[in-house]
Amino acid sequence: MNLARVKRRLIKAIRLYPILALAILALAYFLGAFTEQEDPLVPQSALITGLYLFVGLVPLLFIIGFIILGGATDREFKRMGSKREKLLTSDPFLLPKEEMFGYKLALITDRPPTFTGLTGDSYRADDTASCDSDPSHIPPVLDCECGFYAYKEFDDAKFELTLNPGCFLIDVDLFGIGFIYKRGFRAESQVVKKLHLPKRCMRCHIFPAKVFVSKYKLGYSSMPWWQWQIYCQFCSRGFKAEHRLEIAEMIKALAIK
Ligand SMILES: [Zn+2]
Ligand SMILES: [Zn+2]
Repeated sequence: MNLARVKRRLIKAIRLYPILALAILALAYFLGAFTEQEDPLVPQSALITGLYLFVGLVPLLFIIGFIILGGATDREFKRMGSKREKLLTSDPFLLPKEEMFGYKLALITDRPPTFTGLTGDSYRADDTASCDSDPSHIPPVLDCECGFYAYKEFDDAKFELTLNPGCFLIDVDLFGIGFIYKRGFRAESQVVKKLHLPKRCMRCHIFPAKVFVSKYKLGYSSMPWWQWQIYCQFCSRGFKAEHRLEIAEMIKALAIK
């Protein structure tokens, strides 16, 4: 069944409703619904009841039609969604044969510095996922969103970076139970293998990136937080020693092996 076609037909039928209503009124008029006749063809009360039914019932049928159609559209949308996210393994609990090595974006936040995903969850360089929506979950759970995500292709992560310029690209190994999707993975635990540093300063975009600096940011949930970025020697000048970290110090602080 083509839902869009059914919807179009229903809308066309609604447009016909006023014409139909006028035709029925005219018919009722000629049958004598609005005049006192001695011996009417159809009794007046029956005509009036018929009119009431028409006025009340037909719109109700349209409303019911739209509710059913809306439900069917939702179901179809969900079905398409699950198809899009379709797992590549028939049994998700078969451990994937291919090695799970991927790429993703992370912010570097807080003091001491730590990784924070785009969803706002912080993690260490070697960490096991936990679930925010259900503490009884051991991520990843099929019907949930929990677990560590990563792209298979470096280019996908790189493209996402253009949309999130404050982030860093990282390489990750994923372990434990893992779901393999068309473009990436979702897994139980994760080890950050490499932090990619931009060549240019994240502020002026002119000079080479040299040193990490931390700035106070107003966050998503009005909770202020520290964000680390890498600046050139000029842009980092005004920062005090406690807000600066050399690249090697940052790698050590993040515990990337
Ligand atoms: Zn979960
Ligand atoms: Zn700069």
